[in-house]
Amino acid sequence: MRVVVVGAGLAGLAAVCKLADRGHDVVLVERSRLLGGKATSFTVDGVEVDNGQHVHLGCCTEYLDFVAALSMSESLCTQPRFEVTVLRRQRRPSRLRAARGLPGSLSLLPSFARYAPLGLRAKLQVARALRHAHQRVDAAETFAMWLRRHRQDAAAIEWFWDLFVVPALNAKADEVSAADALFVIRTAFAGDPHAAAIGWSRVPLARIAAAAATRASEVRLRTSAVGLVDDGETVRGVSCANGEEIGADAVVLAVPPARLANILVDAGRFGVHGLERFRSRAIVDVHLWFDIPDVGLTFAAIARSPVQWVFEKRPGYLCCSLSAADALVGRPEAELVELCRAEVAAVWPRLASARLLRGAVTRDPEATFVPAPGLIRQGAQTARPNLVIAGAWTATGWPATMESAVRSGRAAADGLVGVVAPVTAELEAVHG
Ligand SMILES: Cc1cc2nc3c(=O)[nH]c(=O)nc-3n(C[C@H](O)[C@H](O)[C@H](O)COP(=O)(O)OP(=O)(O)OC[C@H]3O[C@@H](n4cnc5c(N)ncnc54)[C@H](O)[C@@H]3O)c2cc1C
Repeated sequence: MRVVVVGAGLAGLAAVCKLADRGHDVVLVERSRLLGGKATSFTVDGVEVDNGQHVHLGCCTEYLDFVAALSMSESLCTQPRFEVTVLRRQRRPSRLRAARGLPGSLSLLPSFARYAPLGLRAKLQVARALRHAHQRVDAAETFAMWLRRHRQDAAAIEWFWDLFVVPALNAKADEVSAADALFVIRTAFAGDPHAAAIGWSRVPLARIAAAAATRASEVRLRTSAVGLVDDGETVRGVSCANGEEIGADAVVLAVPPARLANILVDAGRFGVHGLERFRSRAIVDVHLWFDIPDVGLTFAAIARSPVQWVFEKRPGYLCCSLSAADALVGRPEAELVELCRAEVAAVWPRLASARLLRGAVTRDPEATFVPAPGLIRQGAQTARPNLVIAGAWTATGWPATMESAVRSGRAAADGLVGVVAPVTAELEAVHG
């Protein structure tokens, strides 16, 4: 069977791998010159950088499995257990970490008890609220409403909740649903103590995407899908901006909601609804190269700063990650570089006297969708049996993450089972 997968982000690539595993011929069609979609890398002034720092957690089991199936597990590093340094101005760094031998949220208790940015009152507020993180919430409730309902004061929000929820959901507490925010907290902190362990790629992200793309029989970069070849009952392929039609027995559309709406033209005809309800938020990453060989940071969170996280990618090379950055995404590069240089220098004294050799900015104004209260995310199936959709924004239950993308791509490939039967089964049927 020949399957066309449109979109070489992680969702499309996960679908490619699963379909190829089942023996199908997969044609991968990608609009840009790069593989990996939002999790990619490219060269800036001769240096290969990720389009933005990506982290995974120990609980991102499908993403980890996807990378393992590409024999690239050693390209990722994941902490043995959750540990994060929290930096603040004119104070010593604080640390939150999972203690060995304690289950889930209890494992945070010893370090949380010593966590200097919060006083006893705020710690008790957080502890009390965490006990309610399992309870069902109203679909219309925002996380800000939930925090108010559980009497969290400004300190508890700034020094605890925002540290995790803003970068994880890439949006502020008053924009996201309480259900999505609590999903993050529960998934990371309520079960396996390894679940919240933070990890990242040691290799540029496009290498992982490139490895996955080798599973396709054919990869067409710089090829934009603009429509479907559709007879009203079955999809026969995709039409491209260059006028070409690529025929297929089945099609996977693994593109963001607005692009999907363009390709489908009349999405309702294909049983796809609500695409116009998705809003997105920006992420900005500022890359800083200092003249000191070892900043000694690995990675850290910065509270009360536009920089949520800072990573030492290589000796002297820091990547500052700015989430929910709509107000900053359009600012000039020099301004953003100076903003981040000053922010990291203010919290990490070794950088105050370090010379900045160069800086660069990568930005994505539509990095992730906002998991707003009441947002309905559709699953892979459409009204056509041989057309499925995928993307981190589809109904995986996860926020816009690499994990969600991989889950969606795999679910989309599963959605074609029965439509495109495994080739071996086909051959067995033909040859008895
Ligand atoms: C800066 C940044 C930082 C992030 N940090 C993290 C993080 O730390 N951890 C995490 O888990 N997630 C993170 N994310 C989110 C994560 O990268 C995404 O959720 C995930 O990669 C989305 O994958 P996807 O395949 O669903 O969509 P995309 O990656 O958007 O892939 C869609 C692909 O479809 C292509 N396409 C679109 N239209 C067409 C068309 N008409 N024809 C052909 N091709 C088309 C696009 O070019 C793109 O390659 C981050 C995202 C950004 C931008």
